Amino acid sequence: MIAHTPTIFASVALVAITMVACLVIVGRFRREDGLFTIGCGLLAHACAYVCYTLYGHASLWISYALANTLLSTALAFYTASIFRIRTLPVPWLAIFSLPAIMALCMALLVETREPRMLVSSVVLMAQCGLIVLWAHRTAAPEGRAHHLLMIGGAVSLVGLLIRVLAILGGSVTDMRYDVSNLKQSISVSIGTVTVMTLSLGLILMAKERSESALRQLALRDGLTGLLNRRAILDRMIEEMERAKRSSTPLAVAMLDIDHFKQINDRFGHLAGDQVLGHCARHMGLRLRKIDGLGRYGGEEFLLLLPDTDPHGAMAVVEELRESIAESVVMFEGEPISVSFSAGVWCDVPALDDNADKLIGKADAALYQAKHQGRNRSRMLPCERVLPDNLSLPGYPWE
Ligand code: GH3
Ligand code: MG
Ligand code: MG
Repeated sequence: MIAHTPTIFASVALVAITMVACLVIVGRFRREDGLFTIGCGLLAHACAYVCYTLYGHASLWISYALANTLLSTALAFYTASIFRIRTLPVPWLAIFSLPAIMALCMALLVETREPRMLVSSVVLMAQCGLIVLWAHRTAAPEGRAHHLLMIGGAVSLVGLLIRVLAILGGSVTDMRYDVSNLKQSISVSIGTVTVMTLSLGLILMAKERSESALRQLALRDGLTGLLNRRAILDRMIEEMERAKRSSTPLAVAMLDIDHFKQINDRFGHLAGDQVLGHCARHMGLRLRKIDGLGRYGGEEFLLLLPDTDPHGAMAVVEELRESIAESVVMFEGEPISVSFSAGVWCDVPALDDNADKLIGKADAALYQAKHQGRNRSRMLPCERVLPDNLSLPGYPWE
């Protein structure tokens, strides 16, 4: 099927303009989503294809040099959008150096034929390659955005490769923009696929990004930034299942700030909030990546230490307790002392153990710690026989 080449150019421009209109209506060009940069890319894309339609009717400066520079600018905006969507710093200079190179080469080579066609195709191929590379590095691999951007980038590379091979193969006249033949139809139609897949891929990427930010927000406690109660309980269930499968011990600790009500009463709720934030940051910095810490309730924290035996668990909890007790929170120039008590459960979970049961045991140990004077950690004895390599001489913390 051979299509009229200028008509295909016009249809690509129409698709790009339609996509811009959709972006304005639906997305309102929101800068923070990267939609503004996608819109700029689409506008440049549309203008480039309008210029291509003028080939043979307007000067080569407009229908070739300007057209290719605009297309290169569009691809640069798409690349910049990937960075903006991922809220990474945009390397504007590096990204836009390619359209600048394109403009320079077109200015120098506009009166030639093969060289200008080859150079423009190679620069555009390099830009498509960069889009594929950055999309691969930054988009969630299982997401639809990732697939669309990969397909868009790869299809454009194929379209441009057809041009390069035709030029190198000597059939350069077949690839003139005012000539209609099968090779040209395939190569130019690919422009429609490019504009649709790249823009839709980028819009989807922005959507996936804001959805994942919302998901993260739903799992976090607003005051401390730690996992909230639901999230830390989900994490605990995961860790229990893992510990059961691998027969490794898991430590569960309930930490409760001592006399927190008195802090609120004496210094006010804002000071209490500051103390909570301080404890969360302080403990977060002292834990391993695989440990879990969440805000279980008002001034209670739930700590999970996977693959940790009772000695190790008590060492970690004691280290946290001592360092918090030694730290001081300053509120409006006044020092506030803070300490917590901890109840620890540590064992290989039994098949019928559930989160409520283990938290109940950590709570019972916490009750002992509070009862015995606060600012201390307690652990109830293991009820199950640990594997030989984990057998313990006794519980010095009872
Ligand atoms: P104990 O040593 O026995 O744990 O005594 P406590 O005063 O820490 O415990 P209690 O349960 O009597 O008081 C906890 C207080 O924590 C009561 C509640 O108003 C306060 N609280 C709960 N959530 C927040 C919060 O988000 N911010 C502030 N500032 N206070 C909170
Ligand atoms: Mg409490
Ligand atoms: Mg308390």
